[in-house]
Parts: sequence; structure tokens; C-alpha cells
Amino acid sequence: MTDRTVLPGHPHIARIAGDLHVEGVPLQSLAREHGTPLFVYSKQWMLDALNAYRRGFEGRDAWVCYAIKANSSLGILRVFAEAGCGFDIVSGGELTRVLASGANPAKVIFSGVGKTRAEMKQALLANIGCFNVESEAEIDVLNAVALELGRRAPISVRINPNVDPKTHPYISTGLKGNKFGVAHDRAVPVYRHAASLPGLEVIGIDCHIGSQITASAPYLEALERVLDLVEAIEAAGIRLHHIDFGGGLGIDYNGETPPHADALWKLLLARLDIRGYGDRRLIVEPGRSLVGNAGVCVTEVLYTKPGEDKNFCIVDAAMNDLPRPAMYQAYHQIVPVAEKNGAPTTCDVVGPVCESGDWIGRDRALNVTAGDLLAVLSAGAYSMSMASNYNSRGRAAEVLVDGTRAHVIRRRESIEDQLRNEQFGT
Ligand SMILES: *Cc1c(COP(=O)(O)O)cnc(C)c1O
Repeated sequence: MTDRTVLPGHPHIARIAGDLHVEGVPLQSLAREHGTPLFVYSKQWMLDALNAYRRGFEGRDAWVCYAIKANSSLGILRVFAEAGCGFDIVSGGELTRVLASGANPAKVIFSGVGKTRAEMKQALLANIGCFNVESEAEIDVLNAVALELGRRAPISVRINPNVDPKTHPYISTGLKGNKFGVAHDRAVPVYRHAASLPGLEVIGIDCHIGSQITASAPYLEALERVLDLVEAIEAAGIRLHHIDFGGGLGIDYNGETPPHADALWKLLLARLDIRGYGDRRLIVEPGRSLVGNAGVCVTEVLYTKPGEDKNFCIVDAAMNDLPRPAMYQAYHQIVPVAEKNGAPTTCDVVGPVCESGDWIGRDRALNVTAGDLLAVLSAGAYSMSMASNYNSRGRAAEVLVDGTRAHVIRRRESIEDQLRNEQFGT
């Protein structure tokens, strides 16, 4: 029998005879073949995460619309399109991506506070399922664009329920001071106005309170507030066919224990039934919880550098590949790809970018020497989709693992790729 240990919290990552594997594929050989930094994703983890939502919604009319900003790579989108998912998009570029992946446009939801007229037109011509409008001004512009095209735009209004999701301030979106949605007490007049416009068809209501939420209470609170509005809007004679609760469910980065999607939805559906709205179509827009722990980023140690106050472990991945620590002081576990004997020392794992904010992990106990490979865990969401070319670094390659097979879904970006759109001014 081979010696196989699953990493706690990461059922699709295991150490087999000392070497880290994603499903049946050793990271060591992927790094040798494709270079580093390299993103590696488990297809099974994504499908299992999707199925947790589907179990929660069993017997209901419900759509899981993957919020693609978490990871918009075509190879990832294809997995969800093939599984029959809907999609939540926030730009015309994202619309082009989901259509290219083979998605059904009728299950595409368009969110975001700053949709342009061109994006509205593109989405109307593609016959998407719903626009989640976020302001009174947007309602009038969308109405005008739809009328110009001789169409009616299906809409729901994003309501700001003023609920604290108890997460990082940059990723809480449902509080009064946030730029998102329409204030709770403006909802009824805004719905009345939208319902009076000939270019719009009001079909639902929407909210999204934040991201990396690790408790059920903020969802329950938002649910009650949204249902209060459903009641008031329907009392004004406007029928709402669907209720969209957004995304935001957190994942385990470092021992967090967010509710499982199935348990959370059983809880919310029970409440929905009690309040008499169990017959409505439900929509959710999960991003992180469908991809976050599917991905790891494999990086090579370039140098170890003892410092006056602390030791540094300089790796070939940086803030342009893994922006979450620099942006949100976020935590990613970092583990050696090959098991190694010897005592660990405490070090900061940092990238080559010329910013002190370019760190990936602080005060980590690691036993590393140059040439070793490290795996940065929970890198499936908000990493590659936020990656940049800062310091003229090409974006990393990506591999999708399916059992014992590995498919390159994005080749490494070359310097020629980066220079392609540039020219001298004179
Ligand atoms: C970002 C976003 C989501 C997805 O959030 P996650 O935390 O990744 O689940 C869903 N809906 C909207 C409107 C968003 O902006």
C-alpha cells in the first residue's frame, strides 16, 4: 500500500510517498513539464462544490450562476458550462468569455454598478437571462438602450440590505456605505418606476452582501430583509418571479469553518417556506466557493536570504500572480511540494516584485533551499483572474487536472504577448 495522506481541508490534494498530488497527478512533474509559477486546478473539487449547492436546492427551481470574476479562464468556465451552470458576469468581456465556453445565454445574469451602453447592447443582443441593475440612473439608461434595439430587458434590482457580513471591508458589499445596490428604503419607488418603463421587464430581486462569509447569520438576516421587500413590492402590484441571493460563501483558507452550501441552503429554504416564498425561482451567484480550494499555485524557491529581523524565502511567484495577500492581507497556506527532513525556520515568503507589499506569506515555518518547490494553497479564486503584468511579468500557465490526466488550459504568457498592443508614439 502506498503512503497517502490527504491535506486537511483539501480532499483533492494528497501527499503520496512524500510528493504532493492534485487528484492523481504529481505537482513535481507538472512543474518540471510546464515551469513555474503554475496554477493547477482539480476538476473534481469544482464539481463537488457545485453538487453541494445542488443538494441544498434539491426539488426546487434553482439556478447556480457561477460568478466568473473569481476565475474566468475558459477551461474553468467549460467545466461549469458542461455541468449546466448559469453564470454571473460583470462586464462585456466576461460575457464574451461565457458565450465562448458554450454557456446557455438564458442563464446568464449581468451584475455590476457601471455597465456601459455598449455592454448593455451586447448583452441584450445575446439574450441574457437578467440584468441586475444597481442604481436608478442605470434603470433609465438600460430602458433607453433596450428601446433603441426594439427589445425589453429582463431586470432585477440589486437591493442593499444593510447587513454586515463580518468580512474584510474591501469585500463587504451590503452595507450602507458601499457603492452597491439600491438602498432598502428606496426599493419600492425604484421598482414602481422600473415597472412603468416600456423597455424593461421586472422579473426578480437581487442582493449580494459580501465575500468570504463564514457564518450563516448574515445570510439569514439578509434573507429576512429581502423578503420584507418582496412583500412590499408585490403589494404594489409587481410580481417577482425569482429571488437572487448573490454569492459570498467563504472557504477554508486557514481553518475557517464556513457553513457547507447544502446545509446553508436547507436552513435558508426552510425560512423561505415559512414566509411563503418557497415557490419562487432561486438564483445564487457563488464564485469563490466553487473554485477557491480547487486551485494551488506551484512556485520555485529562488533564494533564501537571512535578514536582520527576519529571514526571507524569495520565490518565483509574486503579487502579480497571487494578489490577495497584498490587496486584503489574505492568508494562503504554503506547503512544500516534496516532503523533506530537517528543522524548519521562520521566514517571510516573498516574490521578486519591487514592492514591500509583495509578500505571499508571513512568518511561515519552512525548511527550504533554492530550487525547492512550494505549493500555495486555496489559489483557485481571485488569483489568476486578478493577475497582472506588473514588473512586465508574464501571467502564469494553468493546468486542469481530471483524475490522472492534466490539460494545459492557458499557456504561459510570453513577453511578445505583452508587447503586442504597444507601439512607439513617434
Ligand atoms: C463577486 C460577486 C459574486 C461572487 O462572490 P463570491 O464571494 O466569490 O462568491 C456574486 N455576485 C456579485 C454581484 C458579485 O459582485
